[in-house]
Amino acid sequence: MNRSSEIQILLERLFPIMRSITGKGNRKTLKILKEIIPLRIKEYKSNKNVYDWKIPLEWNVRSAWIKDSNGNKIIDISNNNLHLISYSKPVNKKMYWKELKKNIHTNLKKTQAIEYRTTYYEKNWGFSVSGSQYRQMSKIKGKFHVNIDSSFKEGSMTYGELLIKGKSKKEILISTYICHPSMANDNLSGIICTTFLAKYLSSLKNRKFSYRIVFVPETIGAIAYCKINEKKMKEIDYGIVISNVGGKGKIGYKKSFEDLNLINDEVEEVLKSNYKNYLTYPFDINGSDERQYSSQAFKINTVTITKDKYYEFSQYHNSEDNLNFVSGKNINISLGLYIKLINKIEKWSIYKSKFTHGEVMLSKRGLFSGSGGSYLPSKNISYSDLILWIIFMSDGKTQTKKISKKLAININIIEKISKKLLSKKLLSKIT
Ligand code: ZN
Repeated sequence: MNRSSEIQILLERLFPIMRSITGKGNRKTLKILKEIIPLRIKEYKSNKNVYDWKIPLEWNVRSAWIKDSNGNKIIDISNNNLHLISYSKPVNKKMYWKELKKNIHTNLKKTQAIEYRTTYYEKNWGFSVSGSQYRQMSKIKGKFHVNIDSSFKEGSMTYGELLIKGKSKKEILISTYICHPSMANDNLSGIICTTFLAKYLSSLKNRKFSYRIVFVPETIGAIAYCKINEKKMKEIDYGIVISNVGGKGKIGYKKSFEDLNLINDEVEEVLKSNYKNYLTYPFDINGSDERQYSSQAFKINTVTITKDKYYEFSQYHNSEDNLNFVSGKNINISLGLYIKLINKIEKWSIYKSKFTHGEVMLSKRGLFSGSGGSYLPSKNISYSDLILWIIFMSDGKTQTKKISKKLAININIIEKISKKLLSKKLLSKIT
């Protein structure tokens, strides 16, 4: 079976599951992913403080429906789980439209689509219905019967983690979010793309970098993950947040917070070699979990390649983001781009200067080129200056490719000098 078909089967299998920031649906989703990659399924306890936030109570729902006055079910989450506002408290009550409509969300401009709504941090309940359902309901004179059989308990919030070791301890973060219910692009596509990327990484022989792959509920899950793995997360310099990769539209990418960072250049090289046109989004404090990973304590330069980015397509956060809009074939296209990005990252060489307090003394090591001895006259840079630049920029994060770009000197020369500085014990090799 080809990869697109494998992805399609997984897409159809995971699509109907009711996911949220906590609950059984998330465990079920991760358990299915475990059939493909050796994911570790972990739990954070409810009510635990994580920085400025708190892990919420575990929410589960057995059924949720509205019956009309004749006892006919007119809204039912077994038809579409977006009908229930996520984290709705339990309700079992009869009421007239006048009262009910306060808890009904709709977008009357969209006759067929059901919008995705949540009430994570405010105890409330509600249903989301299409514009046409809303109009029909508003005409019903008798009492409706509303039932939400949901529960909150001191349980836990579930997440998945996979650490893939490479030759270097230096880690690359790959993260996706698992909290959205039945929407295919946002973000089942991201979950599946991440799973298959992890599978690819596991199959890579002689990996240079180590990879930390996380499947977390968006925002609260990423914050909790940072808290629990604070030391490790602070050591990470580069990351990828995978989301919205399976739509019919254009490929795009969101830059990391440092505009000139090499990871942005690498994504552009990948996209340029595959597409004439692609969309570029600057870094923004809105978005997905790069918001947490880019925060001041962690400063992980994180990129996202998308195929129909969140906010940008009409099916965004509604029931039309379904299996008619997203296909295994489209997810596989994005996956191919992420694989190309990984292949570029795997070529990076990174060194770290052993002398961080002032300059090194070149002359006592026979590295000072003296007056006039220009190494590359055309570039107007002396050999000793080149050494000082390389030492200056080798901060344990900056790649030789980046140094080569910055100095406009061929990478082979940079690599050669770096190796010499390594042998002179002025640099240590990170990857
Ligand atoms: Zn979303």
